[in-house]
Amino acid sequence: MGTVKDYFGSLVFDDRVMKATLSDKVYASLKKTIDEGTELDISVANAVATAMKDWAVSKGATHYTHWFQPLTGITAEKHDSFIAPSPDGGVIMEFSGKELIKGEPDASSFPSGGLRATFEARGYTAWDPTSYAFIKGKTLCIPTAFCSYGGHALDKKTPLLRSMEALNKQALRILRLFGNDSVKRVTSSVGPEQEYFLITKEMYDQRPDLRFTGRTLFGAKPPKGQEMDDHYFGVIKPRVAAFMEELNDELWKLGILAKTEHNEVAPAQHELAPIYTTTNIATDHNQLTMEIMQKVAAKHGLVCLLHEKPFAGVNGSGKHNNWSIATDAGQNLLSPGATPYENAQFLLFLCAVIKAVDDYQDLLRISVATAGNDHRLGANEAPPAVVSIFLGDELNAVLEAIETDTPYKGVEKTQMKLGVDALPKFNRDTTDRNRTSPFAFTGNKFEFRMLGSSNSIACANIMLNSAVAESLKIYADRLEGAQDFETALHEMIQKTIKDHKHIIFNGNGYDESWIKEATEKRSLLNYRTTADCMPHLLDKKNVEMLTAHGVFTEAELGSRYEIMLENYCKTIVIEANTMVDMAKTQIAPAIEAYTSDVAKAAAAKKALDSALACSYETGVVRKLSALTDRIATKSEELEAALISLDDAEDIGAESVMIRDTVLCLMGELRVACDEAETLTAKTYWPMPTYADLLFGVK
Ligand code: ADP
Ligand code: MG
Repeated sequence: MGTVKDYFGSLVFDDRVMKATLSDKVYASLKKTIDEGTELDISVANAVATAMKDWAVSKGATHYTHWFQPLTGITAEKHDSFIAPSPDGGVIMEFSGKELIKGEPDASSFPSGGLRATFEARGYTAWDPTSYAFIKGKTLCIPTAFCSYGGHALDKKTPLLRSMEALNKQALRILRLFGNDSVKRVTSSVGPEQEYFLITKEMYDQRPDLRFTGRTLFGAKPPKGQEMDDHYFGVIKPRVAAFMEELNDELWKLGILAKTEHNEVAPAQHELAPIYTTTNIATDHNQLTMEIMQKVAAKHGLVCLLHEKPFAGVNGSGKHNNWSIATDAGQNLLSPGATPYENAQFLLFLCAVIKAVDDYQDLLRISVATAGNDHRLGANEAPPAVVSIFLGDELNAVLEAIETDTPYKGVEKTQMKLGVDALPKFNRDTTDRNRTSPFAFTGNKFEFRMLGSSNSIACANIMLNSAVAESLKIYADRLEGAQDFETALHEMIQKTIKDHKHIIFNGNGYDESWIKEATEKRSLLNYRTTADCMPHLLDKKNVEMLTAHGVFTEAELGSRYEIMLENYCKTIVIEANTMVDMAKTQIAPAIEAYTSDVAKAAAAKKALDSALACSYETGVVRKLSALTDRIATKSEELEAALISLDDAEDIGAESVMIRDTVLCLMGELRVACDEAETLTAKTYWPMPTYADLLFGVK
């Protein structure tokens, strides 16, 4: 296969291929569309389509697809072949500019949250030239946005691109104020670190809960879990190493910059981190990464679990969204600068993020809300459901000095007027690793750590980009009208620090006392569950901000609210049904078989010698009988609760019933089953245990 350098990106229609296969004129025109978002004319599209098709066919492709990200959270594709009949009875391979630019999948079964009545089955897909086309299997995949005929976004890419545009627009206004006239574009970039579990396919197949819901709904704690911390960064097992090697190759061929992989905290848990890239491409790449992880795992007789909480009592999986903003000249706007002026600019962007995170805590929480992620947030393994920012001691001290007009460390002046006086040089605080903060500054980027492992990163970045665009807009409006730029700048930074410092927290986010302080003293929001936070998507301030920047229409927000809550409800209802089924048809019968054998053993012993007490057998039978009764009762109650969901007035009410009754009953049913597991002989237990699953891959 050659060296990595030879095959990296070999399945991508990237800049190298474009340069080699397109005429100078077509290339220049396409490049302008990619870099500046200018419209593409049809003759250019035709030329690009032909080059793309010829390249794809030479790599063995027979089909093409408009690859998109509907609101299901996974990617969708409908394949069309390139073939067209030729007069001589054969075929030719055809692909036009029109087919490249626009597709019309029959999209009636994708969720639209009421945006598109099913009789209007058609939606359309539109090419996103900023994300390269690539080949998967025998199919040329063209990244696209997906909209209804009414023009409403039905996908995650459209609002993401809009949010990037909003951020670009407002950031440029700020840069102009600092005299940066040459910058043409500001983009946000992301490096998402992805966590996952690997278990054997053989065991996976024996667990209906894993197959139907992606997580174990039962399972007693194994004798050994993660308490020894011996898995984290430990030696990678041969089977896992083979998986990772093939995964890297597949990702590299697709131009995905897979960089680091290591074992995570929990047994059987691992992480993959790519090198960061433009948010839009990072999002596409992360979707592809998740898909390829699962495919490669299958080839190795393994299953890759992307669920946020596959095992209770064991760390779940998240995704760390490393985010920053940079200019087309490569200047990272979240990197402290060398000169006072650059530092003032840096501080302004930093303040924009602080203000954004505080003003839109709810939107950030919503952007990571799923039934699966609710199990992680606040469970002492992931950041709490309360959003706060970690800055590190040094930067914190700088902000405090500015806020109070007091000298910072060695600086003599009593006042630090930004941009005029030399701002103290502060070191990048990279050594202080606060792992418990939901939103941590790590020297030249922020790491948003609340995302669940299966989440598309689109939602989090849509909210982040939009909220920061809003802060920048407020700043730009004020500064553009200011008489004295420096004074206005100083006052604004000072005001931001004063108004928003309650969101800055440099302590331990896992600490119980933090939640108390956050909610009681600092009045930060604490939305524990998806059902709690989702309604706030439609709060006036959020709708106003998101529509003002053209990121969502009001109708789109309404539909997203519906879809996300529907998703929450459906997920938990499927889990509850799976639990009832497993409890009744697998677990209770297994306990019954064991109890009956123990009882028989006691009877046999007594027949031999009536003086024998058989207290062990009696104890086991008593305890297990009580538990089977409990399992039966709880199963019935859970079934009844599920039926009563039909009475819910709307999806909001249903989600509350699920949160308050269904989830509690599921917990109670589980406790009874898990306790029974610890009392039942292993040979009778109908499925692989936690110890089997977590330590099964050699
Ligand atoms: P750390 O060790 O602080 O976690 P790494 O260098 O390992 O930092 O980076 C973690 C992730 O952050 C990687 O995916 C990396 O590519 C990404 N990253 C680094 N710099 C940036 C940046 N400026 N913008 C976005 N992501 C970045
Ligand atoms: Mg990191």
